[in-house]
Amino acid sequence: MASNTRTRDLALSILVLLAILAIGYLWPRGGPSLPGVTYEARYIDPGPMLHLAEVLSSDALEGRGAGTPGAEAGRSFIRKRFEDTGVRPFLTSGWEQPVTILPRKDLEDPGPGANILGYVAGETPGEGPLLVITAHSDHLGIRNGEIYNGADDNASGAAMLTALAEYFVRVPPKHDILFAAVDAEEVGFLGARAFLRDPAIPLDRIALNINLDMVSRSEAGELFAAGTYHTPALAPLITETALNAPVTLLMGHDRPEDGPNDWTSQSDHAVFHAAGIPFLYFGVEDHPGYHKPEDDFSAITPDFYVRAGDTLAVIVRAADADLANIAAHRREILETASQEETAE
Ligand SMILES: [Zn+2]
Repeated sequence: MASNTRTRDLALSILVLLAILAIGYLWPRGGPSLPGVTYEARYIDPGPMLHLAEVLSSDALEGRGAGTPGAEAGRSFIRKRFEDTGVRPFLTSGWEQPVTILPRKDLEDPGPGANILGYVAGETPGEGPLLVITAHSDHLGIRNGEIYNGADDNASGAAMLTALAEYFVRVPPKHDILFAAVDAEEVGFLGARAFLRDPAIPLDRIALNINLDMVSRSEAGELFAAGTYHTPALAPLITETALNAPVTLLMGHDRPEDGPNDWTSQSDHAVFHAAGIPFLYFGVEDHPGYHKPEDDFSAITPDFYVRAGDTLAVIVRAADADLANIAAHRREILETASQEETAE
């Protein structure tokens, strides 16, 4: 590692630490008493987040299978929450970025899909590095007559996405943040792929992808952050946040030697990673409800979920504060890679 990279890493960790300390002075937010929640949220508004997760994972939405009316209904609830909280559409064409859903065994004639792209402007809108936060809105639908509600996977992440957007509308970020509820993750990351293919998305501005997938169910109170193995400069952001986080925040699940427990290619962040964009993925350890009809709202751990939401608010705030450095780091990696290519 070059010494200027080491200096930059040190600067990055100091800035991240300062950003996290500064956040302590932002508006504390008292939480209403919610069933199963003892933690008092300081940043996100937990009531609407829990409510949206419950709505998205209700039987009425029939498991939100990509290309089904249930998935479309789910998207409309997410869009409504963005609208109600002052989030703006990112695209000039409106909220929806079309996603083509391919026919599959259980759905030969799928309806159209879409990503819902919300936007909160930074201090210089339309300029500088951009942070993209993703969470997939679809799940497995109905299989063998059973509804797979996907409360943790990923009604939880999609609802948390709206809670984070609402927080940043209230306490604006330094840099532009794009909040993407992406479609069709369960059938091959089709939404994330459509997102990065769209010429309206400024790829060279995207400094970091933060992906939320399964963030509401942990008896142990443990939230994992994957991605620092691939981008070690992001590790201080996690270690410094972990010191005061209301959950146990752990790094891991991102090394080739983790085998099937290497989550690098297991959710939408994989598409960003393949495009050379650093990512941080947040999720819980696999649980008995994973990809089963038992992944219901009644099985999530609401107190942990609210704690995870506040933790993500702190992490996104710290990443935003230091996004210029993260973007510089990304450029450095790309330049080193192209130099190595030229040398070969
Ligand atoms: Zn998922």
